[in-house]
Amino acid sequence: MTLPFFPPDLFDDERDVLLETVFRIGTAPAQRFILGERTAAFEQALRLQLGAADVMACGSGTAALTLVLGAMGVGPGDEVVVPAFGCAPLASSVVSVGATPVFADVHPWTMVVEPYEVEAAISARTAAIMPAHMFSVMADMPTMRALADRHCVRLVEDSAVAQGGTLAGVPAGRWGDAGVFSFVQVKTFGTAGEGGAVVTDDPELGRLVRMLRNHGQDGRDRFVHHVIGHNSRFDEVLADFQLHRLPGLAGRLRRRAEIADYYTERFAPLVERGVQPPPPGRDGRCFYVYSLLADRRDDLKRHLTTRGVGSHVYYPAPLPAQPAFARYAKPGQYWPHAELASARTLALPIYPHLTDAQVEHIADAVCDFPGGPR
Ligand SMILES: *Cc1c(COP(=O)(O)O)cnc(C)c1O
Repeated sequence: MTLPFFPPDLFDDERDVLLETVFRIGTAPAQRFILGERTAAFEQALRLQLGAADVMACGSGTAALTLVLGAMGVGPGDEVVVPAFGCAPLASSVVSVGATPVFADVHPWTMVVEPYEVEAAISARTAAIMPAHMFSVMADMPTMRALADRHCVRLVEDSAVAQGGTLAGVPAGRWGDAGVFSFVQVKTFGTAGEGGAVVTDDPELGRLVRMLRNHGQDGRDRFVHHVIGHNSRFDEVLADFQLHRLPGLAGRLRRRAEIADYYTERFAPLVERGVQPPPPGRDGRCFYVYSLLADRRDDLKRHLTTRGVGSHVYYPAPLPAQPAFARYAKPGQYWPHAELASARTLALPIYPHLTDAQVEHIADAVCDFPGGPR
């Protein structure tokens, strides 16, 4: 049995639908391929599902972060507190609006950014805090909300990996002044291409994001540019495809949660051998990837390869250690938990179409690892 980490058959069940959609939209008299009625319908479906005032689909999750920061007026001289461990757009989106990312360390087990580290990083120049949900666990959003309110800064919720997750009954993406989603292939609501969305209850943010995603135009007067915008529009074929796939999202997430529950139960005894599963439970969980922490991570990865199980190291270096962002790491500042996470994290396949036998095989392979000290 060989199980790749990135499955090649992610959209096999929906291939006919995708081809039909390409044909239907490609041959429609309107010849409208971006920001048309399918995009509007997709935005409306998300709006209803989330109970949000406004949803704006855009080019990617990265663009969604950049558009939100731009719409909030974050710019040169401002700081934005972001996790020290996570994906590059957390820092690059801040830099792209001319502001400065300030890195906050993460929890050593869940790998989500720590509220007390975020609070310690807030200064008189802080314009926003931008926590991100990670792998299997959502950030502590009630505390982040309270922090943002107490310090009068904006709260941007990077929910790129958490679409469909809920914390205390509130959907991921609904905790911030704005939340963002990503539809890049590998995400929980990934598609056959790129895309992202901004979710907000703030009508002014919604209006500005709409303009910023389309060259600063307001959707009425063409070639009137109210602000300097971007090209970050949404594809009509993908909008239609995602509308078709939206009703199945909850079921796919349930299957991911089931697999995670099974793994976590099987792996609980491995802690004494230096392999730690994520915390169990369903509330505040997202199951984007299932990430273990292993003292001998690289040995575990090699072991799994010999057993035909693909695995993946997300973020082998913390953001402030990346050449691109090192200049934003203040001298003498350290992020020890982010360093540990980078050295120990290993993600296992958790895609919903894994069979029970495959899931068992993966768990067996992990449990066979002798472990031990580094
Ligand atoms: C994937 C991801 C993004 C960026 O989304 P893209 O659609 O790939 O641009 C941003 N933040 C987090 C936490 C992500 O995982």
